[in-house]
Amino acid sequence: MVNTLSRNWWTLVLRGVAAVLFGIWAFVWPDITFTILVLLFGAYALWDGVFALIGAFRTQGERRWMLILEGVVGVAMGLVTFLWPGAATLALLTIIAAWAIITGIFEIIAAIRLREEIEGARRHHAVKERCVFCDIIRQEIAAERRVILETPDMVAVAPYAPRFPFETWLLPRSHGSRFEEAPRHVYEQLARMLKTVLLRMNRALEDPSYNLVIHSAPFSETRAEYYHWHVELMPKLTRTAGFEWGTGFYINPTSPEEAAQVLRAAKV
Ligand SMILES: [Zn+2]
Ligand SMILES: [Zn+2]
Repeated sequence: MVNTLSRNWWTLVLRGVAAVLFGIWAFVWPDITFTILVLLFGAYALWDGVFALIGAFRTQGERRWMLILEGVVGVAMGLVTFLWPGAATLALLTIIAAWAIITGIFEIIAAIRLREEIEGARRHHAVKERCVFCDIIRQEIAAERRVILETPDMVAVAPYAPRFPFETWLLPRSHGSRFEEAPRHVYEQLARMLKTVLLRMNRALEDPSYNLVIHSAPFSETRAEYYHWHVELMPKLTRTAGFEWGTGFYINPTSPEEAAQVLRAAKV
């Protein structure tokens, strides 16, 4: 991921700049008509498609096919926009709707997971009067087998029951329920730890794309001492199957002990 990014940084930057310009333009133009918006979208799609194709020829592996697909779709949409603006209007609305639905679904899934974890932590705290994450950290450091990396204030572990292969949690050793209230030196260690873990994942797993989620106590809770903020990192190695999305039972072929061992051994 980092390698691919560093090789293709300029195509990504140009794509990003075009996306931002398109967005700003659409918002700030006071009396923009829908036709102009559609034509702007066409120009953006064409431009983005061309740069996706350029990116594709500078990339290897699965990502190349994604870029080719993005590029062909982008160029086709750009051309359609200029040839048949009416058809493009429909396409634009469809894309906006599809994008909203997809990101919406991901946000809902992430929110449900966080909610479940918070409920679990609350129950543990009610029964044992201790933070479940503090307990996990103590046990993992003592057992060592699932520890990937340690710094004075942070620890990276392969969680005991990971949902995905090489799922990794980065936890502050001292208890705090909110990410935004952590002391500055903890952020510094988190940043360095994140970099090291990502480099090791790139080395061991061949540049996977990944999801990174910050888990922090909700704003609505005034006292949330039962929760312990942390970062969850999930490289995308296998596709989540319909069964897993549907049931919440995850089939994970790699044990956390194996994953931790591979990530400890990866040379960076
Ligand atoms: Zn804790
Ligand atoms: Zn979590």
